[in-house]
Amino acid sequence: MEKIASFTVNHLDLLPGIYVSRRDYIGKECLTTFDLRFTRPNLEAPMDNPGVHTIEHLWATFFRNHKEWADKTVYFGPMGCRTGFYVIFAGELEPTDILPVLREAADWGLSFEGEIPGATARDCGNYLDNNLTLAKIYLKKYREEVLDHPKPEQLIYPE
Ligand SMILES: [Zn+2]
Repeated sequence: MEKIASFTVNHLDLLPGIYVSRRDYIGKECLTTFDLRFTRPNLEAPMDNPGVHTIEHLWATFFRNHKEWADKTVYFGPMGCRTGFYVIFAGELEPTDILPVLREAADWGLSFEGEIPGATARDCGNYLDNNLTLAKIYLKKYREEVLDHPKPEQLIYPE
């Protein structure tokens, strides 16, 4: 079997950032998959699962309720390596197109208090595996290291 595109990304030089992972054309519609990389692969500790899981619940809720982006949101979920997330939006998009909504999502998560959406036995496959404090640590890091002032090399995959 052929190696898939996401396994050809050079993870050695990959920084925390916002990258176009792929674009898929379905009929006339383009879907853009973004790599939202929170930690530096194999150099920084990956995120722990309870924090990743809580960000999944928070940001999926946020994107799917957003006045502008709800209709464009196809998917949001974590990478198995726990170094980031994928978000799929309808449209032929660039990282700078989604920077404002990512900043909003980070700030919303950072100020979130109360019950994590969907974190109940009825709604989630492992609802006890959530940690809002840890989620906020990761969101704060992504906000400061990436979203505040992304450098050009944090918006395009390394060669
Ligand atoms: Zn869950």
